[in-house]
Amino acid sequence: MMNVLVLNSGSSSLKFQLIATDLDRIQHDADERLCRGEVERIGGEAIITVQMRNGPRQKFTASLADIPAALDYLVRWIASDRSGIKEVQTLADIGAVGHRVVHGGEMFAESVIITDEVLKKIEDCIDLAPLHNPNNIKCIVAARQIFGPKLPQVGVFDTAFHQSIPEPAYLYAVPYHLYRRHHIRRYGFHGTSHRYVAYRYRVLRKLTREQTHVITLHLGNGCSAAAIRGGCSVDTSMGMTPLEGLVMGTRSGDIDPAIVNLIATKEGLSTHQVDALLNTQSGLLGISGLTNDMRVLQQELREHDDRRVRLAIEVFCYRARKYIGAFLACMGGADAIVFTGGIGENSADIRARICAGLEWAGLRLDETRNQQMVGVEGEISSSDSSLHAYVIPTDEELLIARDTVRCILGEPHPS
Ligand code: AMP
Repeated sequence: MMNVLVLNSGSSSLKFQLIATDLDRIQHDADERLCRGEVERIGGEAIITVQMRNGPRQKFTASLADIPAALDYLVRWIASDRSGIKEVQTLADIGAVGHRVVHGGEMFAESVIITDEVLKKIEDCIDLAPLHNPNNIKCIVAARQIFGPKLPQVGVFDTAFHQSIPEPAYLYAVPYHLYRRHHIRRYGFHGTSHRYVAYRYRVLRKLTREQTHVITLHLGNGCSAAAIRGGCSVDTSMGMTPLEGLVMGTRSGDIDPAIVNLIATKEGLSTHQVDALLNTQSGLLGISGLTNDMRVLQQELREHDDRRVRLAIEVFCYRARKYIGAFLACMGGADAIVFTGGIGENSADIRARICAGLEWAGLRLDETRNQQMVGVEGEISSSDSSLHAYVIPTDEELLIARDTVRCILGEPHPS
């Protein structure tokens, strides 16, 4: 049995989970989540939120200057009596660390043990994800300092699952030398989430990996769709960066690239500023002018029937439906659509809006099942559907912990 510390580091936040698992537990779906939480506002008076097993959330504050300080604080708290985690009495009781790493470029098609060489390659990918990879690297280096070089650390990449996407689907139709020189191509993200829900789907349906043909929709604050054929990703909506594809909380998703220059000229902005506008001021927030929070938008629609709120929701659902249609064509049909992410898992209304008009493809939602399936796993299509629909809550941390154990034990980890 191994206590795996799963880390997901952002610019000013560090999310973590402590998961006890081994091959036997993975097999029987009996992994144990000992603790989870988040350090926010790193760089000043940080807020630490923790939750033991299924206990109540506790909140406290500490002055934490950077990621190493936050991680140091966190692991010492986990190993202290204050945490009440009896499985971890000293740092030596943590057997491995699994890191979510955003960009693995073309170098990582699966999770790997982090060696010096691997760390160097992750550094080489900084150009592709300048806002994300540096934080992941800081966290890996900090963990090495705290636990010592002997503790195994594993990198699980957001992009890895999509490395199976074939050339015609990942190449942009721009001069080919840009791909050769600058690696400009579609990579895709949310891979761990798409991979996890595709895996759960095949467990639910008692299928093999090769029999798994699904379109997965990760609809959270970030949103992406993946076309999964024979258990492998064959296309996805996010591109070189997470900006492409579906409409998201604050990201535009697909736009005409000529708009960038146009906005820059008309609004007197630099291209960097337009990039920020498309990433942080667009999407649901941009159209509604109100919020990126789907829950609030839906409440607003119910209570005030605001026109722009309705538009934001309609554009969001239209784009998702358009991708379903496109992927059905690209992958030669699918057996199911799988909804996940905060919106996909919880909002029956959005699921119904997305699936409306997909009867031609054999998809009919069962209204009662759809309403019932909130934050739980299950089918939401009617029994006469030939294209099924499922809700499957994602669990990226669990997959990271499992990959970490499997990498360390030299076990294959294809699912
Ligand atoms: P995530 O990034 O996966 O945590 O998802 C965040 C998004 O899920 C936000 O837009 C939330 O408003 C949305 N969300 C969470 N619960 C619900 C709900 N019950 N109905 C609609 N949207 C929800």
